[in-house]
Amino acid sequence: MRFLSLASSSHGNAYLVDDGKTVLLLECGLSFRRLGQLVRGAGYQLSGLSGCLISHEHGDHARCWEKLAGRGVPLYASDGTIAALGAEGIIKPLAPEVGQDVSAPVRIGSFSVLSFRTFHDAEEPVGFLIRSTVDGEKLAFATDTGNIRYQFPGLSLLAIEANYQEEILARCTRIPEATVKRIRYTHMEIGRLCGYLSGLDLRGCRELYLLHLSDASSDEAWFAQCVRRVVPETCRVMVCEKGGRIRGEEGEKQLHSVL
Ligand SMILES: [Zn+2]
Repeated sequence: MRFLSLASSSHGNAYLVDDGKTVLLLECGLSFRRLGQLVRGAGYQLSGLSGCLISHEHGDHARCWEKLAGRGVPLYASDGTIAALGAEGIIKPLAPEVGQDVSAPVRIGSFSVLSFRTFHDAEEPVGFLIRSTVDGEKLAFATDTGNIRYQFPGLSLLAIEANYQEEILARCTRIPEATVKRIRYTHMEIGRLCGYLSGLDLRGCRELYLLHLSDASSDEAWFAQCVRRVVPETCRVMVCEKGGRIRGEEGEKQLHSVL
């Protein structure tokens, strides 16, 4: 299984997951034109996508959903996200099992996908657990969440938000107080993330991607070092660059060598 970051920040999010048989898009928070450029730049075609999963309705995650749907790409989201987007009958629901916060698995090509609740100021935000039936690998994807209440045994890949550091945020006088409060409850702090990661069994996890770093209150190199200390040595730590910059294979390699 391969995970690719096309764009990762509050300016727009889009990621690809490919197991050699099926290609899934995670998030479509860019203009349709820009998304098409990035997908093609990564060596894929929009027409080759088996689906797009949307975590919640905010523009930086869902901006071009209507155009994608118009191109025949199947879209998937929670019931709450579908209602917030006014996309009933267009986006397919990842419906929770009765009384649960975790959805029943949905088969999309060679992937089995289930969603789990995240903590964000949206109608029904979710993260995704994606398993490939081709290679048996598993990816957990969670962004825009103040916390995560699940363990994910047997992960091969983990893509997770590392939005801000409390000390940097507290010093940011140009961010309005109400926004600071919102960030604290709805996005992932690096220390909180490290605490969460240190409680996970990541012995089988070969790659960890840090997503959605804040422009104003994060520090790429420091975040990578913090996470490096709490995950096994066999797990490569990678930062998806802030500012929505594109990172293809070239960029990833450069970043690997930095870390
Ligand atoms: Zn959001």
